[in-house]
Amino acid sequence: MTGSPDIPWPTGCAFVDGGFRPIEDATLSILDMGVTRGDSTYDVVHVWKGHFYRLDDHLDRFANSVAQLRLDLGRSRDELTDILHEVVRRTGLRDAFVSMNCTRGRVPIGSRDLRIARNTFYCYAIPFVWINTQDQQAVGTSMWISDMPRIPPESVDPTVKNYHWLDMDMALLEAYDHDATMVLLRDQQGNLTEGPGYNVFALVDGHWLTPVAGALQGITRQSVLELVVETGGIVRETLLTAEELLRADEVFVCSTAGGIMPVSRINNGPVGDGCPGPVTTELRDRYWARHDDPTWSTPVRY
Ligand code: PLP
Repeated sequence: MTGSPDIPWPTGCAFVDGGFRPIEDATLSILDMGVTRGDSTYDVVHVWKGHFYRLDDHLDRFANSVAQLRLDLGRSRDELTDILHEVVRRTGLRDAFVSMNCTRGRVPIGSRDLRIARNTFYCYAIPFVWINTQDQQAVGTSMWISDMPRIPPESVDPTVKNYHWLDMDMALLEAYDHDATMVLLRDQQGNLTEGPGYNVFALVDGHWLTPVAGALQGITRQSVLELVVETGGIVRETLLTAEELLRADEVFVCSTAGGIMPVSRINNGPVGDGCPGPVTTELRDRYWARHDDPTWSTPVRY
C-alpha cells in the first residue's frame, strides 16, 4: 500500500536486505536460521505521540543480546538509530511498534557451520500493538497460571530477548481452554516467571513483588520499579509464588506492547474486588504521563 510521497507506507515499513520496503513486501529466506532454528534475538521499542520511549535502554539491551548470542549486526549504534528513525518516518505513524532483529542468518547450502553464517539484520515499524486494548484494560483481564514450566534459564537465557516461545504459546492455548486470555509460567522450582510478552507485578501485604529471575528484564518493568519508588511505594524483586499471586490485592502485567495492564481474574477467581486496583491505575496513569517527559522520550525525525 502506498501513501503520499513523503509518507509512502502508512501500514508499516521494514528495513531488510539493506533497503526500505513496505511491510507487506518484506521477506526473509526460508533457509535463514532465524526461521529454521529460532536462532535470533530482537528488541521492541515503541513510539508514542511521535517520540521513542527509552530508546537508549532498548538499544543497550539489544546490543547486549546480540553480543550474548555471538551475532554481528554489521552496523554501528548510530546507523541502527538512523534506520529506526527512518522506518518510522516512512510510515508517518505517531504511535508505533518498532522491532529490531538479528538472526544467525544463512550458511551456504550443504553447510551446518554456524561460524560462517552471514547474520541477518532487519527492522520494522507497524502501528502500535496492544496486548490488551485500552477497553480491556479498563476492566482488567483474566490470567491462568500454567503447569507448563518455562524453558530453564540455563538453557535459553530469558534476559536475551528471543523467539523460543513454544512453552509460552502452548501455555497460552491452555489458558484459553480455561477462559483466560493471559498466562504465567513457572520455573522448575514452581516460582512464577513471566508470560508471552510481559512481566508481572503483584501487590501482596502492601508491597509490590515481581520475579527477580527467570524473566526478561523488561524496560516497562524498569519503569514500574522507578514509578513505585517515586510514588512512595515499596517494591521487591524476589521469588513470587502462585500462592502469593492468588492472594494479591492487585496484579498487573507490563510490556512495551500496552504498558501497565491490570489483571482482574486469576484461575477463575477475582483479584481483590475483581476490578483494576487503585494503585495499578495510578501507576498506569503515571506511566503514560512519563511519555511527555523529555528525560524518557526522543522525538522521531519525521
Ligand atoms: N517478557 C517477555 C518474554 C517479553 O517478550 C517481553 C516483551 O516483549 C516482556 C517480558 C516485556 O518487556 P518490555 O517491557 O521490555 O517490553
